[in-house]
Amino acid sequence: MNVYDSERVSTMLINNGWNMTKEVSEASLVIINSCSVREKPLQKLFSCAGRYLPYKKKYGLKIFIMGCVAQQLGDKILEKASYIDGVFGPGAEYMIPEVAEKEIFPFISNQTDLLEREEIFPASSRGNIFGKYTSYVTVMHGCNNYCSYCIVPFVRGKEVSRKSKELLDEIKLLADNGVLEVTLLGQNVNSYKDPDSGIDFADLLYKISEETPVKRIRFITSHPKDFNIKLAETFAQISKLMPYLHLPAQSGSDNILNMMNRKYTVSEYNKKLDMCRKACPDIALSSDFIVGFPGETEDDFNQTMLLVDKTGYDVIFAFNYSQRPFTQASLYEDNISSEIKFRRLNQLLDLQKQKIKEVRNRYLNRVVKVLVESKSPKGSSFMGRSEHNLITHVYDSTEDDVGKIIDVKINKILKNTIGGKKYERN
Ligand code: SAH
Ligand code: SF4
Repeated sequence: MNVYDSERVSTMLINNGWNMTKEVSEASLVIINSCSVREKPLQKLFSCAGRYLPYKKKYGLKIFIMGCVAQQLGDKILEKASYIDGVFGPGAEYMIPEVAEKEIFPFISNQTDLLEREEIFPASSRGNIFGKYTSYVTVMHGCNNYCSYCIVPFVRGKEVSRKSKELLDEIKLLADNGVLEVTLLGQNVNSYKDPDSGIDFADLLYKISEETPVKRIRFITSHPKDFNIKLAETFAQISKLMPYLHLPAQSGSDNILNMMNRKYTVSEYNKKLDMCRKACPDIALSSDFIVGFPGETEDDFNQTMLLVDKTGYDVIFAFNYSQRPFTQASLYEDNISSEIKFRRLNQLLDLQKQKIKEVRNRYLNRVVKVLVESKSPKGSSFMGRSEHNLITHVYDSTEDDVGKIIDVKINKILKNTIGGKKYERN
């Protein structure tokens, strides 16, 4: 979501006559997009901003902060770093070009009611200035779920869906500019509802598939409590919808899920996975997990291990619990020591490392379709994503393949990626 927001703000600035530069010494404005979902990125923000201070002193660079920390801290940011020129919560980002132009410094806006305004997606923020083949598109912002550990509803405001007509226009424009794959974003896409026509998320997927020329569609994130059969069936019905589902479990213990206010049990979660596998037996699954939630016992943690062992995820994202302001769980004692958190985190990641071999071996010797995006950072091969969302190296690819979806026969399963050679179908 932050990538999308950064690109939107960059697009807006470029459409207002600004240019992008890679050299800080050439820049008159730098904007740092910030995340507050866990404690660590928040700490990084201030060290990042500090690195630009010498440029401010020497070249008069202006420094803006946008995103969730801007929303969370507002003018408190200036107490910590008085040299910041602008602070824009997610609902105020559309004002960035105007503020930069008029030089109204320091400018602070972090009012949550701004999140409900349609202008936060102005037409000038659309396009594909980065010349990419894949793009994110936010279909809704905010969240009404209030999972007890999560700051998102407090910094992104209440859930608001964008109009499907606007989304279709945006996706068509992206496609006209070369985008082949869109990933639709929302904190819980299952509660998408077009404010005009009332269509739900599954209907939106059908519309995007039928009415836009994009070749591939993905979405994140789906909340297990709301994942339903209609959405599961889209995996069977919509050929453009890629066989990949991120369904964050967060924990494998009913006790902890209850404390987390996730509103499902492990058995209900498993039923949702079955629903999905029935529609698409070959689906790639991924999930988020939090370890060390207040009160998490060894037994609770072992149940998370069991879920990961049983499910066979292609990818998991696991995090140590960190206490966040405003949240329900901030009232509970953060009583799992950081040693235990790290031990559990490593145990979980080690288990996934072992499982990955099993899970990914199913791609070996298989011909998969890869959207080639760029040269691999190391070596001479090119890389892109397979339909199952795995980074795939194509060892005999050339510049000509970039921006195309090609057949690749997989002959290598690596630690985080897979690899293979081009395959000619007869
Ligand atoms: N809307 C998505 C999640 C957005 S936040 C969902 O419901 O799944 C992304 C991930 O960050 C969460 O899935 C969770 O695993 C993690 N996370 C959120 N708050 C956290 C916290 N306080 N401590 C550790 N991890 C957290
Ligand atoms: Fe946070 Fe829960 Fe909303 Fe996801 S669904 S953003 S975890 S409150």
